[in-house]
Amino acid sequence: MGKEICTAPGCGGTVRCKRLCTRHYWQLRRGGNPWAETDPNLLPEDGIVDEVAVDAAIKGGYRAEPLRLTQREREIAGAVILARGGSEEILRTRLYLPSARSARELADVIDGPHGDASGFRAA
Ligand SMILES: [Zn+2]
Repeated sequence: MGKEICTAPGCGGTVRCKRLCTRHYWQLRRGGNPWAETDPNLLPEDGIVDEVAVDAAIKGGYRAEPLRLTQREREIAGAVILARGGSEEILRTRLYLPSARSARELADVIDGPHGDASGFRAA
């Protein structure tokens, strides 16, 4: 039995609820439209975590081109950034997220429902 894939455009995440992955489900719950978001720097999930790219995202710094990551890579890099005391604004810039709201949503996914980073471990 294959896993169901999130119906939001460009997302290859595993469905949690309402045919959406955790991130898009929370976007919907916050009044957003997960099917309308365009995120040109989000790579489709390929099941591979590129540690070099994740490391580069964590370190930040100037880049001529946006760093494109998969959702899983963003969650891993984001968890490290947040654990080191980084703000959502730092998440947004280092992970090249399309909006402050998407940074908030990523932080929510990482925090999980109990604010203890359980969402990240469960992902
Ligand atoms: Zn999704």
